[in-house]
Amino acid sequence: MRGCDNSGVNPPLNADLHCHSAVSDGTLQPEALAARAHANGVELWALTDHDEIGGQRRARDAALALGLPYLNGTEISVTFAGQTVHIVGLGFDVDDAALVAGLAATRGGREARAREMAAGLAQVGIEGAFEGALKYVGNPELISRTHFARHLVESGVCSDTYEVFRRFLIEGKPGYVPHRWASLGDAVRWITRAGGVAVIAHPGRYKFSANEEYALFTEFKAHGGSGVEVVTGSHGPADFVKYADMALEFDLLASRGSDFHSPGESRTDLGTLPALPARLTPVWQALEPRVQRA
Ligand code: AMP
Ligand code: MN
Ligand code: MN
Ligand code: MN
Repeated sequence: MRGCDNSGVNPPLNADLHCHSAVSDGTLQPEALAARAHANGVELWALTDHDEIGGQRRARDAALALGLPYLNGTEISVTFAGQTVHIVGLGFDVDDAALVAGLAATRGGREARAREMAAGLAQVGIEGAFEGALKYVGNPELISRTHFARHLVESGVCSDTYEVFRRFLIEGKPGYVPHRWASLGDAVRWITRAGGVAVIAHPGRYKFSANEEYALFTEFKAHGGSGVEVVTGSHGPADFVKYADMALEFDLLASRGSDFHSPGESRTDLGTLPALPARLTPVWQALEPRVQRA
């Protein structure tokens, strides 16, 4: 499904405000992503690498050279109620010192965690996974489960990355290592104090009880968060309805993003999601002053 038929109150804008480059766990460079977004009809774009803003200037420069309006972005890993939650930040100042320091601290534990993951995999007979995963890493500070997944596919252990996660990398599996990421309040404040908008990423992916999910939304708002992804590559049609209702209940702005990582892996390409439900206020209305244009 291409584009956005958002007749009614919302402007018909093909915004894609969530994706990853090789600066985190995507496979394309920021310039190639900008070209792909533009070719796919994206009209407002943000690169949102995990815990990292090192690709922002490259993404913006490439986007503006194509006439594609750009918002600075990132996706921060947070621990909430014992689970990992992702908070997308949009439209912040990339030079904000507290944000830069907070992201660096969040990236900090990844190497030790990756070594523990490799030790867990070695116990089930998969040797050398740390070195194997490193071959796929574009940014040494950002070794992630995705890089282990690529290594286990390329070495023939699994046929695709989804199978790797199912068998080895999710909670209860041998390569899973619980990790303490940023706190919800810190992540939201790093973003908002840098002039940006904080957005709960793909809420339909978390395995929370109804009470825990309610607490996540309530605390997120209390910390100054103001958006939620309603239409994302991780949501199906039932999630679109559920999180549209939640956006209205919690008076949150709605975001839309493919979460594209790689042409060979991702099920949703840049710019190909359905429109936001017309009853919602798009997050890009509030971000208009933060949009960068050529
Ligand atoms: P990490 O930050 O190292 O925990 O890695 C998380 C990343 O792994 C996410 O951002 C996704 O790109 C990917 N991922 C997480 N869960 C899955 C899954 N079930 N199937 C495929 N990819 C996943
Ligand atoms: Mn990822
Ligand atoms: Mn995510
Ligand atoms: Mn993502």
